[in-house]
Amino acid sequence: MATDEASAEPRLFPDDGDAWVPRPVLTTAPLKGPLTYLAPPHLPPGTLLEAPLGGRSVTGVLWDDAAADPDVPLAKLKPIGAVLAAPPLPEGLRRLIDWTAGYCLAPPGAVLRMALPRAALAPAPKRTLYRLAATPPDGMRMTPARKRLLAALADAPALPGLEAARIGGVGQGVVKGLADAGALEAIVIAGDPPPDALEGRSAPGLSREQAAGAARLRDRVRAGAFSVDLLDGVTGSGKTVVYLEAVAAALSAGRQSLCLLPEIALTDQWLDRFRGQFGAAPVVWHSELGAAERRRAWRAVADGSARVVVGARSALFLPFRDLGLIVVDEEHDGAFKQDDGVRYHGRDLAVVRGRIEAAAVILASATPSLETLANVERGRYGRIVLPERHGAAETPPVTLIDLRRTPPERGRWIAPPLVEAVDQTLAAGEQILLFLNRRGYAPLTLCRACGARMECPSCSAWLVEHRLQGRLICHHCGHSARLPETCEACGAEGQFAASGPGVERVAEEARERWPDAAVEIASSDTLQGPEALRDFTRRMAAGAIDIAVGTQVLAKGHHFPGLTLVGVVDGDLGLGGGDLRAGERTFQLLTQAAGRAGRAEAPGRAMVQTHQPEHPVMQALEASDRDAFVAAESAARKLARLPPYGRLAAVIVSGRDPAATERQARLLARAAPTFKDARILGPAPAPLAQLRGRWRWRLLLMAGRSADVQAILTEWLGAVKLTDGVTAQIDVDPYSFL
Ligand code: ADP
Ligand code: ZN
Repeated sequence: MATDEASAEPRLFPDDGDAWVPRPVLTTAPLKGPLTYLAPPHLPPGTLLEAPLGGRSVTGVLWDDAAADPDVPLAKLKPIGAVLAAPPLPEGLRRLIDWTAGYCLAPPGAVLRMALPRAALAPAPKRTLYRLAATPPDGMRMTPARKRLLAALADAPALPGLEAARIGGVGQGVVKGLADAGALEAIVIAGDPPPDALEGRSAPGLSREQAAGAARLRDRVRAGAFSVDLLDGVTGSGKTVVYLEAVAAALSAGRQSLCLLPEIALTDQWLDRFRGQFGAAPVVWHSELGAAERRRAWRAVADGSARVVVGARSALFLPFRDLGLIVVDEEHDGAFKQDDGVRYHGRDLAVVRGRIEAAAVILASATPSLETLANVERGRYGRIVLPERHGAAETPPVTLIDLRRTPPERGRWIAPPLVEAVDQTLAAGEQILLFLNRRGYAPLTLCRACGARMECPSCSAWLVEHRLQGRLICHHCGHSARLPETCEACGAEGQFAASGPGVERVAEEARERWPDAAVEIASSDTLQGPEALRDFTRRMAAGAIDIAVGTQVLAKGHHFPGLTLVGVVDGDLGLGGGDLRAGERTFQLLTQAAGRAGRAEAPGRAMVQTHQPEHPVMQALEASDRDAFVAAESAARKLARLPPYGRLAAVIVSGRDPAATERQARLLARAAPTFKDARILGPAPAPLAQLRGRWRWRLLLMAGRSADVQAILTEWLGAVKLTDGVTAQIDVDPYSFL
């Protein structure tokens, strides 16, 4: 069925005489699978429609006939409702939805909802285009501006008013005036303007290694088959340069490309580079898009006019028609894992979608995940190495500052060796990044009189002081309150003390120490929205900022030529907590942060303040010996049969009543059958024992690498019925253990 893009309203399917037959429809309701409805036999799978469900009408998609339930009695079936005026969901996306639901043990309808954003279904806006009227009116008043516009439009296609005015070099009023006079014909159409056309250009001047890597990736794209390659190179080695060559190859091959970036790495700098090479911007997809942009992007991907999409993980669920290349930049980044709702990992799904679409997949990183490195070792993924920074730039040496030997003065956070390095860097007219991955002023506020700590009323977490906003904020649920005058516990007045540093506090210290330097904070609080980040990076690149005090929003993707010193204020921050990836994540984040230094001619250096310089992570950073770190970490994981050498799945039991929640968690543990090659640990109270008012207990399934984790979970959880308002959430391959 050809969808009618121009019709805004859903329309009833015309009665064409064919008898309707039972067909599966996947709806956005969170059910186990597709339901069977009566529908016309010739409607293609993927057709978007409305279907009656429980007295309401829900959005659904005609699913593939193999999913039909043959046992439903015909007489009970309801007919589908209206067919929607939207392009059908392509086969590749339908397979991805099925796969994700099966792997994450999520209701397929919940996965479908991620693939069908509301905005995508909104009717196309109407637009007015102008072109010369076939018969010009007689005796119209002529002005030089009008003459100019008419001449400019003589050979032009119908154009939007703004565009017509631009090429005529006149104001939009002139366009309107000529249209009113009948010299221009106004055509109203529905539908979106297509994305800007891209030119599939190659970048000149690649180094020998870059050129070799690019050639290999171009071959992968041209082969038109599924493949996965790790693009492994230190920060600044030109990974972006090289994978953009693969994008150019996909453009020439006429296939679509998807570049996935962690949300905060999706910067203007990236877009500028893209524009520089391809002459126009790609289609962008992330959580901040407005409804109109979202709709336009979704439709352009579906109709194939979007040739290249750059986006955050949710872009994986876009309706690509012919996807030939998927790039996952910073593939190790934890931001690719979705931690609520459908708990999928964007990197893993990129590989799955690549297989479904017969596409080339590139995983790029300076610090690849152990999962990806294991797949390289097993021979499943190829590997392309870029060993050096481009040009004269060198990877910055890392020195450790032992906080036990050279601590900062009391109440201060920057230790003497780092102070000295900052002095030198400022004197040389270069820039500094003080890196601390903690927002706000102080992570803990306590009463000096009685020791009481300010905690969130609905989470087991401390409230973080944000002095710039004058508030205490819970970083888990967003609860926010003013700092009270008196302590609730002991009644003491004005006795609250901040404990520990956040970026605001380090910035305060930097301003005191270096009053002549321009100090600015860069965190998700101070840089809200793309405009603020853009402004910051522009000023940073232009040298208007001397010292940036930043969280991870500055650690990734940015290129500041004048930045030569990175000081990590608290290198140990990520190491606590006993999370299996704590070491790996800290190594990755600090490597990334250090990699911001010395990306241009001026050599850079990084200093890491730590209380445990003997820790393997610190040792590996100082020696810049990634291989040794990976080898030690892999050996430990192998021994413990942890990922990527074993499999994990978490079950989080939560409820508002603490006793009932605990009871249900214990019941679940007792109900566990014995499995070969798998065991169940717990229940234990979650480290974040209460979240948004719900009490939380965790169970962990540990299994061998070849165990069928989904079958085990289904058998186990299927046998238990939870009561008392308690729910169990499944997280296959968990990354967060909170
Ligand atoms: P990575 O993605 O590995 O961090 P980039 O692709 O961002 O590295 O490259 C780092 C910097 O070096 C960028 O400013 C980039 O433009 C520059 N660069 C890399 N390779 C080349 C090259 N062959 N010619 C010119 N500039 C290059
Ligand atoms: Zn909270």
